[in-house]
Amino acid sequence: MIKGFIKNSFVDYPGKVAATIFTGGCNFSCPFCHNGELVLAPGKIKDIPDYEIMEFLEKRKGLIDAIVISGGEPTLHPGIWALMAKIKDKGFLVKLDTNGYQPRIIEKLLEETQIDFIAMDIKNAPDRYAETAGLEKIDIQRIFQSVKLIQSSGIDYEFRTTIMKEYHSAIELEKIGQWLNGSKKYVLQNYKQREGQVEEVAFTPFEEEFLESQKEFLQPFFKRVEIRT
Ligand code: SF4
Repeated sequence: MIKGFIKNSFVDYPGKVAATIFTGGCNFSCPFCHNGELVLAPGKIKDIPDYEIMEFLEKRKGLIDAIVISGGEPTLHPGIWALMAKIKDKGFLVKLDTNGYQPRIIEKLLEETQIDFIAMDIKNAPDRYAETAGLEKIDIQRIFQSVKLIQSSGIDYEFRTTIMKEYHSAIELEKIGQWLNGSKKYVLQNYKQREGQVEEVAFTPFEEEFLESQKEFLQPFFKRVEIRT
């Protein structure tokens, strides 16, 4: 299940020093995803046993605050329940990164674990969701359900969209703002090309001025809007 591990991250959990765990496999296939092998061929990557992570965490008590469980899509793995419980037992905060396509799992995790933070990707406005997630069709109701669950969860959360000119414009971003209206936090992440994408295509990031103008435009829909580059 665990295919990657970053021992120190200052960006994956807002305001905290974190370590990040990457699980293999995903139910989306976003063309611009940076984790091509993790998503498309997780079997080629060696598993890291849970006990290695736990041994590391034992030594890092007091030095890191939080563990981020990212992917791939972590909610595809029944093993994340036990993993989260072990991490919480050691006294760390837990953040989940998810694409939100498993609302029943998200609901159970919110009810039955002490998860501290959820970051959910919002791939695009509903009418362009499937193509942006690399799917022929999508059950958008599942995404709507996860958004509602997270909005009413009472825990820290953020919604975030990786934007590029091929998939997004001011029109899509306005639709996202109206859809997520009233949410705590929304993050615009400008696309950056990296090696190992799901599709080896150079998509087009936005200029700084566009990001700033969209941040200002979207502000009334959210308590907080951030640009992450
Ligand atoms: S970017 Fe898309 S394909 Fe990549 S891990 Fe996230 S949801 Fe899956």
